[in-house]
Amino acid sequence: MHISTRNLLAGVLLAGLLMHANSAESQSETTIDKLPIAAQTANSTEPAKLLIRQIEEHAELMQNLAVICDDIGPRLTGSQQLRRAQAWAMQELTAYGAVNVHEEAYDLGKPWRRGVARARLVNANEVALDIVQKAWTLGTNGVIRGDVALLDVKTLGELKAVAPTLRGKIVLVVSSPKPTPEQKKNIKQYLADVNHIINEAQFAAVLLISDKDYGLQNMWGGPASRFDRNAGIITSENSNLLRRLLAKGVIPKLEMELRGDFGQDFVKAYNVVADFKGTDTSDEMVIIGAHLDSWDLSTGATDNGTGVVVAMEILRAMHALNLHPKRSLRVVLFSGEEQGLLGSKAYIVAHRAELTKIQAILVQDTGSGRIIGFPDMKVDAWSSALVSAVAPASELGPLDIIYDIGTGSDHDTFFDQGIPAFTPMQDPLDYHNHTHHSQVDTLDHVVSADLTQSAQVMAITAWGLLNGERLSHLGHD
Ligand SMILES: [Zn+2]
Repeated sequence: MHISTRNLLAGVLLAGLLMHANSAESQSETTIDKLPIAAQTANSTEPAKLLIRQIEEHAELMQNLAVICDDIGPRLTGSQQLRRAQAWAMQELTAYGAVNVHEEAYDLGKPWRRGVARARLVNANEVALDIVQKAWTLGTNGVIRGDVALLDVKTLGELKAVAPTLRGKIVLVVSSPKPTPEQKKNIKQYLADVNHIINEAQFAAVLLISDKDYGLQNMWGGPASRFDRNAGIITSENSNLLRRLLAKGVIPKLEMELRGDFGQDFVKAYNVVADFKGTDTSDEMVIIGAHLDSWDLSTGATDNGTGVVVAMEILRAMHALNLHPKRSLRVVLFSGEEQGLLGSKAYIVAHRAELTKIQAILVQDTGSGRIIGFPDMKVDAWSSALVSAVAPASELGPLDIIYDIGTGSDHDTFFDQGIPAFTPMQDPLDYHNHTHHSQVDTLDHVVSADLTQSAQVMAITAWGLLNGERLSHLGHD
């Protein structure tokens, strides 16, 4: 259990100074000037200045990140560790002044658990390979042995031709088919065809390749992904070794074991929802989303611990300043993002009746780097709204609104519904080539000053959208 220093301090201060304070105010900061409601207009730069100062001086970003990464740890969807993180987040959001704090369940299926993974060359240089089991796959059920062969195909037709020749092999997947535009129109059928060919071929196992260097691993997989059994991921260096051996006519022989597997019982997964109420009676809202689940090779500091603590910080800061936005702010901490945006898809289904109330959703999911702007999703009306929203943040550095689509996280699910959905462009730091999904997604790679700037920009952008012109949905109003 985590007791934040802020709550302890606030308790001490308030006990002596604010005997008349109500319980909501007793959670808030006492050292910052609060702004009269009348001054909190959409175009006022004053709330922006207050948010910048509040977050600069009182942010709990790094201490919260330390709780979810160092105290709780990896937060695989369906795991007890994610449940602990959710309980902690609800407690903390409540302490920050959120209302309507609750979890929303959806069906996950059988949860997947990692086990021991190992692989070794039994000929050539006999080196031990660096292998991890692809998530959401069946394990090998003991030690298996086989010859390594390459799969290097671009189309479904090529896969169909080659697959039967790879029966019983440990298949190193250099390239697997990509759907053509025509095949994308019926992607379900296409994926079913691919999986049918793979299953018919009865490979002994598959070795997928991490796209990172320096021995860094990668992780992916979910209920709907291909290669659903005996699938390991090896480092790029290990795959290069196997390919060099094959190129000179030496067939690598491997011994390998993958012991990850599914639990027996069907379980639920959960999203955490928390509100900070606006003054308007329209029930419109701006959602700040992030995913609390992480991959499990490390502690998910940059993917997406940073997005989670930023979302929580925005609510904390607005409440501490006693700001009164027109629309409500809703924080949603999704789960199942890494298995295919499962949590946000469940949210859309559960909240179908109120989707029109969503003014916009903001999701930060590219690590701790400073924000340099937002893609406008190629919608002119949204672009001008973003320009106005970020304008009061100009002192935090150049912020560009660019004509582009920014995808890759839970906001995609909302954008598919025509809802204004934005993700900031960030300084990538070492996110893509080091921390993302790897074994080094740790606190060490989080740049505190950049994270503070990103929370400030997100808070100001959210404030602008909370109070600004109503944004039209695509294909709706
Ligand atoms: Zn992520």
